Amino acid sequence: MSDLALFGGRSAFLHPVHVGCPSRVDRARLFDRLNWVLDNQWLTNGGPLALELEDRVAEIAGVRNCVATCNATTALQLLFQAAELTGEVIMPSLSFAATAHAARWIGLDPVFVDVDPLTGSMEPAAVAKAIGPRSAAILGVHLWGRPCQVDDLEKVAADHGLPLFFDAAHATGCTWRGRAVGGFGTAEVFSFHATKVVNAFEGGAVVTDDDELAQRVRALHNFGIGLSDSSPAGGTNGKMSEASAAMALTSLDAFEDTVRHNRANFHLYSEELADVPGLSVIPHDRDERHNYQYVIVAVEESATGIGRDLLIEVLRAENAMAKPYFSPPCHQLEPYRSRAPVELPHTERLAARVLALPTGTSVSREDIRRVCNVLRLAVSYGADVTTRWNRMKGGRE
Ligand SMILES: *Cc1c(COP(=O)(O)O)cnc(C)c1O
Repeated sequence: MSDLALFGGRSAFLHPVHVGCPSRVDRARLFDRLNWVLDNQWLTNGGPLALELEDRVAEIAGVRNCVATCNATTALQLLFQAAELTGEVIMPSLSFAATAHAARWIGLDPVFVDVDPLTGSMEPAAVAKAIGPRSAAILGVHLWGRPCQVDDLEKVAADHGLPLFFDAAHATGCTWRGRAVGGFGTAEVFSFHATKVVNAFEGGAVVTDDDELAQRVRALHNFGIGLSDSSPAGGTNGKMSEASAAMALTSLDAFEDTVRHNRANFHLYSEELADVPGLSVIPHDRDERHNYQYVIVAVEESATGIGRDLLIEVLRAENAMAKPYFSPPCHQLEPYRSRAPVELPHTERLAARVLALPTGTSVSREDIRRVCNVLRLAVSYGADVTTRWNRMKGGRE
């Protein structure tokens, strides 16, 4: 147990290994594209590379329209504005803060609902129960790239005449019942942030089969220029630059390799941790396509003797920068926390017991074995690690 870096042992990694390291791209290709952009002297405002990216993303999503944006948070806001929402948006709390903040920033009220206790997917029955006179839309989140219960959500939305949107920030290249994410509900939003599986440095996209909605998003992301009717919001600047489009296209070129690497990482983690009591890698449906962008482990403290938060401390001391994705959940963050309290027991339980492990194209099999060895050691002495840590902390206070 004293081998653990937490207790003074040598760290397993010389340098920090992060969750969400940028996926590898072909630099020569990226530089060729950037050179082309500079020669072409068209740096933003719907340039040729942004349009090429839109075509490719629309094809991946299996939809007619894609509008590339500066990031996914803005894309969500553009979508809400284009749909002229006012009032409440029903969404899960178990997501990144951007999901809720995007709505809040433009004056909409997030209404949080609970998730399935095992998969973290928003519960369609809870959504139906949350619908009220101020409901304007439903926003699903394909958490960790696992698609929502799309059919049930579509039914609830249709029954109540509400638009259904998806935050697909984690789910580029994933399928649900063989159909690509991107084509569900009224519209979906991808993120191409540096930490996501497809990376534009910063970037996002709205994808939809609704031509009119797409046209409105396109106008709104360019200061409202070209809107046929007036939007109360006017417009904003949500455009993607050509530099970001160059990166996104180069990242898309590498997508199959990235997913292959991530898939192998995922399976190695699953094998290595299979015999560690109390740790379970949340599995994926083998019949679906998945991007394997996140490796999420659920910690059952009654079996490990060591809680999620302390396990993260143990890993971080080793320079394996595990993260509590997503904890605290949105309803426990400001500005939502101080509103009327909501109880979301499944969300709270899941948020308190899951962690994301480092993966991505810069994480090797050797790295993963090392991370798993640390986890195995920490769990095999779980109760002792907990006692010793508490004593250390007590001594310091
Ligand atoms: C990353 C992320 C976002 C925000 O994406 P940006 O492109 O960084 O604005 C939104 N929702 C979820 C679930 C995310 O993980």
